[in-house]
Amino acid sequence: MIPVRESPSPNCDARLPGVPIDILLLHYTGMQSAAAALARLCDPAAEVSAHYLIDEDGTIHRLVPEDRRAWHAGKARWQGAEDINARSIGIELVNPGHEWGYRPFPEAQMAALEALALDIVSRQAIPPRRVLGHSDVAPTRKQDPGELFDWARLARAGLGLWPRPDFVPPSDVPAVMAGQRGPAVLDLQIALDTVGYWVEGTGLFDPLTEAAVTALQRHFRPRRVDGIADAETQGLAFHLAEIAAA
Ligand SMILES: [Zn+2]
Repeated sequence: MIPVRESPSPNCDARLPGVPIDILLLHYTGMQSAAAALARLCDPAAEVSAHYLIDEDGTIHRLVPEDRRAWHAGKARWQGAEDINARSIGIELVNPGHEWGYRPFPEAQMAALEALALDIVSRQAIPPRRVLGHSDVAPTRKQDPGELFDWARLARAGLGLWPRPDFVPPSDVPAVMAGQRGPAVLDLQIALDTVGYWVEGTGLFDPLTEAAVTALQRHFRPRRVDGIADAETQGLAFHLAEIAAA
């Protein structure tokens, strides 16, 4: 059993009958302190919550029982599904976030997350590749858990979608970016949609496409997050689509 501290939040309701729990969604709190985040996640007026909150020292708080729907995803979509709260477990990681001094997630926090995530995924039978970030399911609104989050570490534990070790990005593919139109943009949109991102197949590199490209970079190519689908980004999108479709 993983040690948890009970910090119940009233901000939850019944799950929807017939909707499976098949996503584990990761967030950062984006607040100045853990205490402030915990207070907000338990404040009925705030109407937000998550199932768990993990402090930087690795302390795990349970706010909402897993069989209840917590309120953490907001307007979101993944692989066509929109009520992400109904089908997910939400974990908040204490971190000030981009607004208050974004910083690396400490080892104690990551170790606690890894253990908790492995436990949840196996108990709830969540497909391991459906361990996602908030920015993946709400790319136009959210940046969390952000480019400092160590997705590679979770992948080594068997959690999350991740490129295969033999993936080699192409180098001779022209970049596509905001405002461009054509078959290369449409191919990219189809790949992003297959991975799960919310895009429309318009053939125009529109704001939704730019947001999805940015989210994909934040998750899979964090050293450059610029919304421009360069050769490496396109290669990643096609490679991840192939894995997601398999
Ligand atoms: Zn979030």
